[in-house]
Amino acid sequence: MRRTLLFTVGIAAIALAGCAREASEAESAAEAADSEAVEADNILLAEWTGPYGGVPAFDRMDLAALKPALETAMAMHLAEIDAIANNDEPASFANTIEALEASGDAIGRVFVYWGIWSSNLSTPAFREIQQEMAPKLADYRSKITQNAALFARIKAVREGGEYETLRPDQKRLVDLVYDGFARNGATLEGEAKERYAAINKRLAELHTTFANNVLHDEESYVTYITEDQLGGLPESFVKAAAAAAAERGREGEYAITNTRSSMDPFLTYSDERDLREKVWRTYYNRGDNGDEYDNNAVIAEILQLRDERVALLGYDNYAQWRLEDRMAKTPERALALMEAVWPAAVARVREEVAEMQALADAEGAGITIQPWDYRYYMEKVRQAKYDLDSDEVKQYLQLDRLREAMFFVAGELFNFDFAPAPEGSVPVFHPDVKVWEVTDRTSGEHVGLWYLDPFARPGKRSGAWATSYRSHETFRGKKTVLASNNSNFIKGAPGEPVLVSWDDAETFFHEFGHALHSLSSNVAYPTLNGGVRDYTEFQSQLLERWLATDEVIDRFLVHYETGEPMPDELVAKIKAAATFNQGFATTEYLASALVDMRFHMVDPTGIDPDAFERETLAELGMPDELVMRHRSPHFGHIFSGEGYSAGYYGYMWADVLTSDAAEAFAEAPGGFYDKEVASRLVEHLFAPRNAVDPAEAYRAFRGRDARIEALLRDRGFPVPGE
Ligand SMILES: [Zn+2]
Repeated sequence: MRRTLLFTVGIAAIALAGCAREASEAESAAEAADSEAVEADNILLAEWTGPYGGVPAFDRMDLAALKPALETAMAMHLAEIDAIANNDEPASFANTIEALEASGDAIGRVFVYWGIWSSNLSTPAFREIQQEMAPKLADYRSKITQNAALFARIKAVREGGEYETLRPDQKRLVDLVYDGFARNGATLEGEAKERYAAINKRLAELHTTFANNVLHDEESYVTYITEDQLGGLPESFVKAAAAAAAERGREGEYAITNTRSSMDPFLTYSDERDLREKVWRTYYNRGDNGDEYDNNAVIAEILQLRDERVALLGYDNYAQWRLEDRMAKTPERALALMEAVWPAAVARVREEVAEMQALADAEGAGITIQPWDYRYYMEKVRQAKYDLDSDEVKQYLQLDRLREAMFFVAGELFNFDFAPAPEGSVPVFHPDVKVWEVTDRTSGEHVGLWYLDPFARPGKRSGAWATSYRSHETFRGKKTVLASNNSNFIKGAPGEPVLVSWDDAETFFHEFGHALHSLSSNVAYPTLNGGVRDYTEFQSQLLERWLATDEVIDRFLVHYETGEPMPDELVAKIKAAATFNQGFATTEYLASALVDMRFHMVDPTGIDPDAFERETLAELGMPDELVMRHRSPHFGHIFSGEGYSAGYYGYMWADVLTSDAAEAFAEAPGGFYDKEVASRLVEHLFAPRNAVDPAEAYRAFRGRDARIEALLRDRGFPVPGE
């Protein structure tokens, strides 16, 4: 405790000088004077050293250092904040906004290691620390957002005469910082401020309760089946189900767990219709079983409190508050997009159901298609129509060649060169992780590093993701980017190529799109690297489109044994199959997104979530043969936290941009490799990150707003008037 205090005082005094670098040097001096001090040696706090402007010391990470590092770094940052807030000089852009941008370097470094432990190298010991530190971190964050003196200075800059003299990106930075505080209650005083804090505290509890109730129902309801009930199920699924049963002490049986990864393949392949219905009902009733884990009352209270909280800030409803800093800007615009696509999606569902019904009738099944039949008959239609053998496709998708293809695309579009960083020159946290140096092809200038952690291992979270260990900035000297991609490919036998599915190859390109978005940043300030939720998936989604370009197919999608490029017929089948099942996928998604938006636009006084969901869907004309992708009682995106509340529409919003931007390439003389379109893409849609309003940036790229018709065409839906 004493150490932290001493530390705080020391840093506060130094931070007045307004330079984080000096602060850390002085910190070392102060610490050296204190014989008890260990933080100065804490590897997680230490400045990054070595090549490329310094790199994280991933080879020397020590979990024992994490807690003291976090505690010290939080104290350091709060001391920096206090120094900014209590500055005697009048507030200026330099001593307030730039000073804020320059603060928190130490905690930023600790969070890079935290991220590796939480996503790439998790252990029970780490999770214990995570649990213990979560409330302390929440406390630290609210100490910043609720610092009244700090907000007063930010407000003074926002409203002062200097503002008009700033560069456009600096103005935007001031606006973003100001809004970040104002939108989170900083403008409130007295009773309203107290009520605001009380609401947030209660909401945090309710979000956790909601998530725990869903988790309870996922873990408690397991459907056990026996050997004679395995008809239709693929071998890999049967093996996993046997292991899952054994894990639960039911050796010799097969467990269908109550999660999407178990439910979805079971409903796709199981020939047992009664069991399909049982598994379907169990899954879609999570959080809705009328017991102590039922989430309906939790939802009602969450909606009520969210509405009350934004009313304190002067908004009509929660959605209005939520969308204000999104690209869509208003709930009405997001609704207009969804409602424009909805009829086409529903019409396609009717066609899909008719096809499935015909197939079932031809089989003599004697049934009417129900929600638990959809995936099953859809799979039969898919096999009959497209005859796409996923194993055959895989033989053309070698992980190493895909990586080379991505480098090729990055070279053509971004003028980047990728070269392996010399072995051992950059520390890594696992031997599987490889690092490439990225340079500008023309100038040879160093752009950054790209880390790739490709393979699954225990303790690594599932799926694929991108993250940055360091973002681009220039306001206190240029910092180059450290970008990373992470996947869960299964390692092949030594010397054997790693073959992946088409979906996984697309995801590989997708995550690389996020990395390119980081690497191409040209912003001056860290905050301007921030993402806008309905915009930030667009860049990555767009990059997926280059996987299916002829240049990539001919040069990189070659058979792992013969070296022959993927045959035209196979490519044609893949492309034809891309619009398959879009009725189901679009409708189940949109139903969730529409219900989410409407929940957050109505007056929630006395709301009955169950009835509200039912009535909203009836009003929309939801087909009987399918349900919302996430029914309200287990819609964690919007009720386990606020990340996607009134924001689930964002996936489709970004997808409209993706489809429309892809058409800009398709229409260009040079197609997907058109130099002129590519340079506009980088200039307007990648490099500015959030330094320019996304809607303006898109207009600068395209000469107009994105059009919904492009998305309709992409999904194979009819376009009105065409
Ligand atoms: Zn993404």
